[in-house]
Amino acid sequence: MGAGDPKTLTDLAGIGVGRLAGVGTKNLAALSEVGVNSLLDLVTFYPRRYLDRTNHRAIAELAESEQAMVLATVRKVATRRTRSGRSLVEVDLHDGSSYLRVSFFNQAWRARQLQEGAQAVVFGKVERHMGRRQMTNPVVDLVGDRTGRIVAVYPQSDKAGISSWQVGTWVSEALRRVTEFSDPLPGRIRESYGLAGRDWAFRQIHNPSSLGAANKARTRLAFDELVRLQVVLVMRKRALERSSKGIRHNVEGRLLERLRGRLPFTLTAAQESALEDITADMAGAYPMHRLLQGDVGSGKTLVALGALLTAIEGGHQGAVMVPTEVLAEQHHAAISGLLRDFTLPSSGTLTGERPVSVELISNRVGAAQRRRILSGLADGTVDVLVGTHALLGETVDFNSLGCVVIDEQHRFGVEQRATLRGKGPGDAIPDVLVMTATPIPRTAAMTVYGDLDTTILDELPPGRRPITTVWARDTSAESEVWEKVRAEAALGRQSYVVCPLVEESEKVASKSAAAEWERLSAGELRGLRVGLLHGQMPVTEKQSVMDEFRSGELDVLVSTTVIEVGVDVPNATVMVIEDAGRFGVAQLHQLRGRVGRGEHDSWCFLLGTAQADETEQRLQALVASNDGFELAEVDLDLRGEGTILGSRQKGSNDLKLASLRRDRELVAQAREVAFSLVDADGPTPLSAHGELAAEIGLLLGEEDREFLFKS
Ligand code: ADP
Ligand code: MG
Repeated sequence: MGAGDPKTLTDLAGIGVGRLAGVGTKNLAALSEVGVNSLLDLVTFYPRRYLDRTNHRAIAELAESEQAMVLATVRKVATRRTRSGRSLVEVDLHDGSSYLRVSFFNQAWRARQLQEGAQAVVFGKVERHMGRRQMTNPVVDLVGDRTGRIVAVYPQSDKAGISSWQVGTWVSEALRRVTEFSDPLPGRIRESYGLAGRDWAFRQIHNPSSLGAANKARTRLAFDELVRLQVVLVMRKRALERSSKGIRHNVEGRLLERLRGRLPFTLTAAQESALEDITADMAGAYPMHRLLQGDVGSGKTLVALGALLTAIEGGHQGAVMVPTEVLAEQHHAAISGLLRDFTLPSSGTLTGERPVSVELISNRVGAAQRRRILSGLADGTVDVLVGTHALLGETVDFNSLGCVVIDEQHRFGVEQRATLRGKGPGDAIPDVLVMTATPIPRTAAMTVYGDLDTTILDELPPGRRPITTVWARDTSAESEVWEKVRAEAALGRQSYVVCPLVEESEKVASKSAAAEWERLSAGELRGLRVGLLHGQMPVTEKQSVMDEFRSGELDVLVSTTVIEVGVDVPNATVMVIEDAGRFGVAQLHQLRGRVGRGEHDSWCFLLGTAQADETEQRLQALVASNDGFELAEVDLDLRGEGTILGSRQKGSNDLKLASLRRDRELVAQAREVAFSLVDADGPTPLSAHGELAAEIGLLLGEEDREFLFKS
């Protein structure tokens, strides 16, 4: 090491931290415990925060119960046991103005950490005891002999016995010995996005000359993380396009035209433009892989139907995959209804035509019927198949599957996509349209679905009555809710009551829904026709309850969240959600979307109190907004990104700095850059960006890597 060429991340990954002065065997083991083995690990072991030394306060000026930071020297350390047997370490600090007594309970190791003469920064709440200032269990950072106005504070590991100042010392040593970090990002891109150079960024993030500089450094390094991820996603997208043959659908639009003529309304401009995107994809040479986002009630179903019609018009087949049997049933009924009397040319009949055939595969379908459907799929006389994920199973053989619509609940990933191979005509791969039930934040869409094209339905059909959302926090508000349910029933309208989310199991949830059904039927809702729907009921029973509700034979449906997605009963005007605080924002919004689908005013009532601040904010957000895209952003703010990324990005631990929440703008920019890098390289992606390619290979997860090098 030492002077020489600029070091790449790959170079740094090849140098062990043991090469640094001051890292002995013991420290090596400790560092390894926090995941630091190479110099790369060390320089990307980023500060947790910064101390601005000019910000600290003189002990003598501290007022009782304020939060304050103090920089002082350890004068005296004493360890003893309290009467209850807990260990107590008492440390006296002095900063030239006065003394501060700091007490630590059950942290005996503090006596070793805070030795006499050490410089420490403590942060905590000031207490006063017998005229003397003190703090209990404050946050402590050892500053050591590091100088500078701004000091980086690293995650310390008490267990591994590593302190922030030790890390700081090693990092400084590493930065001294790497004379220059090379920069894989072309200068023109750095310039146009106003990004700092990487060498500067690595030095400033650890040793900032100001907090502004630290921030700028963080932006650059976070950008790098996002670019690496986006490059993988964009490459995957391009690789799929290149390596797979799609079906060039013939998009005459005869059936779609017929559908338009049949609808009692005109499609919204957003629906029309989504259909344009989709038909352009389908006419093209590559398989479509598109995400259709739209708020609850924006009319995604019709857009999806347009895609299916395009496929079947050209002699191919369509499939609709939904998360539950109840939904499969419903979609089947809706699609069959909309396509009633539709015909396709057929040489086997006298008229030269045959009716379009839409079939359902579910548990309710008997063996004989199932065999008939399967054979129709194989010979091409079944045009559209609706079902759960089972419909892409091995035993289901399509004559020529042209388009798959996925009403998304689980991610339709790389593995699932593989099951599509072989179901299309010849070696062509069917087109895929993925729909989300509720919008997801823009940055999440770009990341979780970063290898898909996106269409957004940003418009609701006209004439929708806004849904009034009320949070009924107490019992008197709650009794008004049941009054409302009765009043609506008297007007011939219907209500849903969704029972509390029970985490333990579907079984427990079902049991509690049954109990609630009994309670309400005998109490608040006595005299009304109240039905029960839960996951543990036999499928046929579920379906017949849904039928009764749809046909208006029930006034109220008490249910678990099985009705969450997609159920469409325009006559339903009230949604009551019990213990609403237990549901997430998206789920609540989705449930609320079950009403307000007809011409009547609708209400959504949230029951229950908020135990936590976050719950309060969540429910208030629902009351304040009916806009799913807005709520998706609120949700990201409240919950952070872990829940959204889910297992998808778990494999790649390359997102150390970047956050989908804090770095919204940066995610979009990184995606732009990724497209420009990948596309500029022509047929061999990243050929002109070898260093970046190497970094990706080094830092991203297995699945990502595999794609990178397969293509
Ligand atoms: P989502 O996007 O939530 O899946 P749906 O496709 O279920 O929404 O549509 C919601 C309701 O709106 C359905 O009853 C549908 O018939 C109706 N709808 C769809 N498009 C329009 C439109 N352009 N004008 C009026 N109503 C529409
Ligand atoms: Mg729908």
